[in-house]
Amino acid sequence: MSRKILVTSALPYANGAIHLGHLVEYIQTDIWVRFQKMRGHSCHYVCADDTHGTPIMLRAEKEGITPEALIERVHGEHLRDFTGFHVAFDNYYSTNSAENRQFAYDIYAKLKANGKIVSRTISQLYDPQKNMFLPDRFVKGECPKCGAKDQYGDNCEVCGATYQPTELKNPYSAVSGATPVLRDSEHFFFRLGECEDFLKGWTTGATTVNGAERARLQEGAANKMQEWFDAGLNDWDISRDAPYFGFEIPDAPGKYFYVWLDAPVGYMASHKNLCDRLGLDFDEYWNKDSSAELYHFIGKDILYFHALFWPAMLEYSGYRTPTGINAHGFLTVDGAKMSKSRGTFITAESYLRHLNPEWLRYYFAAKLNSAIEDIDLNLEDFAARVNSDLIGKYVNIASRAAGFISKRFGGELARDLGDAPVLAKLQAAGDELAQLIENREFSRAIRDIMALTDEVNQFVDANKPWEMAKQEGMDAELQRVCSILINAFRLLTIYLKPVLPRLAADVEAFLNIAPLRWVDAGSLLLAHCINPYSHLMTRIDPKAIEAMVEENKQALAPIETKPALDYDVPPIAETISIDDFMKVDLRVAKIVEAKAVEGADKLVSLTLDIGNETRHVFAGIKSAYKPEDLQGRLTVMVANLAPRKMKFGLSEGMVLAGGGDGGLYILSPDSGAKPGMRVK
Ligand SMILES: [Zn+2]
Repeated sequence: MSRKILVTSALPYANGAIHLGHLVEYIQTDIWVRFQKMRGHSCHYVCADDTHGTPIMLRAEKEGITPEALIERVHGEHLRDFTGFHVAFDNYYSTNSAENRQFAYDIYAKLKANGKIVSRTISQLYDPQKNMFLPDRFVKGECPKCGAKDQYGDNCEVCGATYQPTELKNPYSAVSGATPVLRDSEHFFFRLGECEDFLKGWTTGATTVNGAERARLQEGAANKMQEWFDAGLNDWDISRDAPYFGFEIPDAPGKYFYVWLDAPVGYMASHKNLCDRLGLDFDEYWNKDSSAELYHFIGKDILYFHALFWPAMLEYSGYRTPTGINAHGFLTVDGAKMSKSRGTFITAESYLRHLNPEWLRYYFAAKLNSAIEDIDLNLEDFAARVNSDLIGKYVNIASRAAGFISKRFGGELARDLGDAPVLAKLQAAGDELAQLIENREFSRAIRDIMALTDEVNQFVDANKPWEMAKQEGMDAELQRVCSILINAFRLLTIYLKPVLPRLAADVEAFLNIAPLRWVDAGSLLLAHCINPYSHLMTRIDPKAIEAMVEENKQALAPIETKPALDYDVPPIAETISIDDFMKVDLRVAKIVEAKAVEGADKLVSLTLDIGNETRHVFAGIKSAYKPEDLQGRLTVMVANLAPRKMKFGLSEGMVLAGGGDGGLYILSPDSGAKPGMRVK
């Protein structure tokens, strides 16, 4: 029976680049969707950019463009990256759309009519310089628990404490640097607490899918829900004050929907846009009694929004609720959190510059299962596994058989394959593999497919076609064996096609066949002409991985929210006494010689005259100064710093400079100062 399925991935925020962490989800979803389509079901995959909120507004302001211009540019970048990884959305839309506004208004009006919206005045930190209320992440200060400086308003990255922004010591606005003040404002709340009975039933419940019971939430997610129920559900603040980039709330001028209200509504908006384009019946999918299936693939960090707020919003505004929420874990690289300094915070764009997207699709598939577990991209294992599985085992089957078929038999496969238990076994595996992929047990499916591949390779070794080719009178047998291998390769390609869509298309061209469907595993290619074999996939060169990591080390583009200044002002250090300061012996120094250091990208070697002696110092200022421009200048040095042995020699002190990543400026005394004068 053909099913009607609507699938979504979480909406990426229009404030930064897609990276490999994001791709775990889009690749997982895309594999599942492609599988459903191959099975002959009607399956639509929709997504959109999540475009609203304070970070977008401030980022656009910083770039000197409108939020609309920013989100349009990012939309193009995101879609380019997804397409590069063969993630095939049926529609990739935007939450800043007419459809989304209409559904957000509609849902809000219905919730209000149902008594689920209440208004209340709350006190919040306000930036008196920028004239705006500050979201938690835009307030910084000292951690109330451990005193660490420069921590965000919701949690401390040093000790892990969570707290209210009002609890921060010496708070400051990350937007303007001003000291925030408390100010009252009217906010609108969704009465989530009143939805508790419904949500308890919903989150622990099951739906019938294709005749079988399916839990709406994974076990790990259901357990998490129970913790939240035990802690008690709070009403949810769904409004924000102007200035805000989003949808203004009807009948409440100056109040906007919080971005998380209209973000999931964006799933509907994107689908509506698709339905209008294709002439499909939107209501058939979203009516309360809809028999269509609706699945949201999400990261474990946004479970609260998708398993509590979203079904409650839908239920109390008269729409259907999701059939299932499929949450996944995070990506680690080489066993650790992705890191910009280690070069493992890898953007989709840079991956595609160096590596084949299907290698990553395969590796992720080989690691993903239906549980909410983190997966690790071990770069060494990645290369080894792809090279061994895809090239050594799978593609190799075709390359070993195709030449004989082309050269000896004019490209024609045998009419009769005789007794071929290896093919029977491959064909019989289809149902079990389908069940595994349906249940998102991708890693088990890949393991089983590779076990079948091993059996095919054993068949090759047992029959040795290259020896048969040298023997008289073995033509028919050679054609039969090679035709079995080509058929085995075709069956394996069917099972791998959701993971490797591009490669499968190349195989279809090579085999001279129509696009493979899952049902095609029931038949074999007999007396059929194939095209000459050309290389289907290359091995991973570990050097390409190294180059990619190196590139990501250099591109430290900040995508986090930043103050409105276009450079960073670090917080003032702890107070010291005059005695502490006097311990530092600062001297006017004349740069008598400055030269580049061979093999060092950042260093300039300086010879400094400080009156009675000369000093030799390495300074990391090559990015800002040409050595020849420094010669003869006066500057200031720390003269009593313990000498430091460096790779290139001994450094006997330090030259003073202001700045950092955004530019370096060495200090100069006014004219008249003489080498060796003390600075105090
Ligand atoms: Zn702390």
